[in-house]
Amino acid sequence: MVSLGRIRILELVEPGFFGGVLNHNVVVVEKGPSGGLMMIDTSLPMNLEKIELYLRAWGYFLEDVSDVVVTHWHHDHAGNASELRKLGARIYAHENEVEYLKSPPRYEIAYNDVKDELKVSEEEFKSTVERIAHLEYDPVTVDVPLKGGEVLSGFRVLHVPGHTRGHIALFDGNFLVTGDAVRGVGKLTPPLRFFSWNYAEALDSFRILTSLPYSVIIPYHGEVVTRW
Ligand SMILES: [Zn+2]
Ligand SMILES: [Zn+2]
Repeated sequence: MVSLGRIRILELVEPGFFGGVLNHNVVVVEKGPSGGLMMIDTSLPMNLEKIELYLRAWGYFLEDVSDVVVTHWHHDHAGNASELRKLGARIYAHENEVEYLKSPPRYEIAYNDVKDELKVSEEEFKSTVERIAHLEYDPVTVDVPLKGGEVLSGFRVLHVPGHTRGHIALFDGNFLVTGDAVRGVGKLTPPLRFFSWNYAEALDSFRILTSLPYSVIIPYHGEVVTRW
């Protein structure tokens, strides 16, 4: 767990991601809109115990999470949102993600479409797609649909479509939490093309986000980059 001013980053890892290990930067902010902790994204299903251990190391319990912001419907972001809702948290997501969170579509990816971008063997590709297809995903009900422009605990909601239709990022003038609209693996890049709903819009959103006057940019996958 890393503490940066008023935010904390809980780093979880996803082994077996196209031959590598993908990290997940779950952000937690104190004093969420409902008074407890505000969590931004929640990692894959079945990671709730790990999240709880992080929170307990910081003196909190899962029940202290009062608000959960989901940047987009993908399972590595929304995977534990439903469980947290059962414990009392309110769920926030863009209005365009509401239906996808309730009944997510299946990923349709062919090896030939991605082998150059991913540089992955066919075997590793197949095992990753299999694993993702069999995740036990609990559908998520959104309590507070967003349009963009709202302010949650000092963070303005930015609608940055492209990776998905209703992808959002959060910016408080200092910390920029990008979800998958910016990827930080090695360097800051746009999201992977084959996982994006509209790649041209994803490129526009990437340019908009990376030109903001942030001090710290927190991509969900990859490295946190500071301008200190
Ligand atoms: Zn995603
Ligand atoms: Zn992701």
